[in-house]
Amino acid sequence: MRPLVVERTWTMNDFSRRRLLKTSAVAGVGAVAVSGVAAAAAPGASAMTEASLSEVYGAERPSAKLTGRIVRPHDPGYTDARLGWDQLFSHYPLVIVFAQNTQDVVNALTWARQNDVALRIRSGRHSLEGWSNVDSGLVIDISELKSVHIDSAARVATVGAGLSQLEAVTTLAKRNFAVTTGTEGTVGLSGATLGGGFGFLTRWLGMACDSLIGAEVVVAEGAECAKVIKADLNNNSDLLWALRGAGNGNFGIVTSLTYKVAPLKSVTYVQATWDGIGDLRRVFDAWQRTALHADDRLGTQLEIHRNQTLLFAVLAEGTPAEAKKLLRPILSVGSPQVSVQVGNWGEVYSGFQIPTENEPANWKFYSQFTRKPFPGKAIDVISSFMRDAPTDDSNFFTQAFGGAVRRSPRGGTAFPHRDALFYSEPGAGWGTRSDRPGICDPLTPQAQAWIAEFSQAMRPYVDGAYVNVPNVGMQDWETAYWRDNFDRLRKIKAKYDPHNVFQYDQSIPPASC
Ligand SMILES: Cc1cc2nc3c(=O)[nH]c(=O)nc-3n(C[C@H](O)[C@H](O)[C@H](O)COP(=O)(O)OP(=O)(O)OC[C@H]3O[C@@H](n4cnc5c(N)ncnc54)[C@H](O)[C@@H]3O)c2cc1C
Repeated sequence: MRPLVVERTWTMNDFSRRRLLKTSAVAGVGAVAVSGVAAAAAPGASAMTEASLSEVYGAERPSAKLTGRIVRPHDPGYTDARLGWDQLFSHYPLVIVFAQNTQDVVNALTWARQNDVALRIRSGRHSLEGWSNVDSGLVIDISELKSVHIDSAARVATVGAGLSQLEAVTTLAKRNFAVTTGTEGTVGLSGATLGGGFGFLTRWLGMACDSLIGAEVVVAEGAECAKVIKADLNNNSDLLWALRGAGNGNFGIVTSLTYKVAPLKSVTYVQATWDGIGDLRRVFDAWQRTALHADDRLGTQLEIHRNQTLLFAVLAEGTPAEAKKLLRPILSVGSPQVSVQVGNWGEVYSGFQIPTENEPANWKFYSQFTRKPFPGKAIDVISSFMRDAPTDDSNFFTQAFGGAVRRSPRGGTAFPHRDALFYSEPGAGWGTRSDRPGICDPLTPQAQAWIAEFSQAMRPYVDGAYVNVPNVGMQDWETAYWRDNFDRLRKIKAKYDPHNVFQYDQSIPPASC
């Protein structure tokens, strides 16, 4: 069921006691002025409400109003509106604002600050620790910002930050353009890009964030306000650098993204399946000897399940003969079933999507980067854990790096893992989708223990972690995600969010002066 559309402003009756106390403390400080885009007036506010607000703020101090599509706990669509993709996490926000334009975002941020309400930013809802949602707080959801403007001559696309990856890939592909995205279409384009973003086109075009050349961002201003700024190579270029790999929920709310896009007419897509994991040592070894050093147009992934080993490959602007030749060392191991498809990137990408309702409800991943090829012992660890995997959906996933990832774009990026050979993650998936939180599933303790032990056993062979697949409980997560860039990120945080308005479990703290 779709969430109920409720367009309304909030009145004093909605304000918490905490808000009143806070308001008393700041009353008389001055009018709420939102530079860049002004906070919304209060159309339709009742005389009584306005009188009450004047009492609290002083006559010249208008309070921000929530605007956009607003869903609250007693609305029929609340459950749909609050649940994320990973149902292991279940939060009950006070209110969810589905912004319809940048002004709604400005108003929501101002409202949260004026009312001292915790806030989170949300796009595609795939946060793997539930950090785009918050109990008793405000979720600013930008997923309905869907504008698209493509300048074919300049090879530049500016899109609303609410596009899913599927929407971005297919829209660009219709014009024979592409940027790197991850492989799961329902993931938010902005969530993926702002943390780095890798996928089949990574070795050819670099990380998704490498193609990001501009963004519109709503940031906190002063004690209680919000403003809209641009980040590109000429304006707030330090913020653009930070958004390229550390932008998720740290500096402000990104409302639009501008990418340099690459021409792409067609791809060859290859899928190979080996029964079981008996050939894993040889498949893995052949993969890491060839696919990581092959032609940059070749992007590959391995996905190892307890009952099968899968290779997925995309060759940009390449023929099936070329793809098979590049993959021959891997495909010649054992007797895999191989399928080959040639087509427009949008059609191929749409074709390998799995509908969310067919996926397990609960997921736990652990991200790891690798700078040296796995020795046989490491591959044996993978085989051993996969034999004991809690479900058929649980898997060990790898993504080939190298190629264009090694080259940083002009202006640089906060994403630091340019010398990685590949990315990998053990992942557990279990349970069926329902309204029941995954934490109540009887398999949850077993799946969580398996992933913890598996990732621990891989530690001798890995180095670094991926902020888009956060590792909770990891020591030194700051350097695991960003290496030496962390200090600079803290300084940029202090410049754009000195009051630490945007915070969650592993957010970047502002540098102290
Ligand atoms: C099934 C699955 C497959 C994946 N595959 C890949 C892959 O192939 N490649 C890859 O690189 N990653 C992959 N990921 C990781 C994915 O990139 C992250 O989970 C990503 O952050 C999700 O973004 P979202 O917008 O969907 O999620 P959300 O939960 O909406 O947001 C994730 C984080 O980004 C913040 N955020 C979202 N939008 C904005 C915004 N506009 N401004 C500021 N902050 C914002 C949120 O506050 C939150 O911290 C995968 C994840 C899943 C669950």
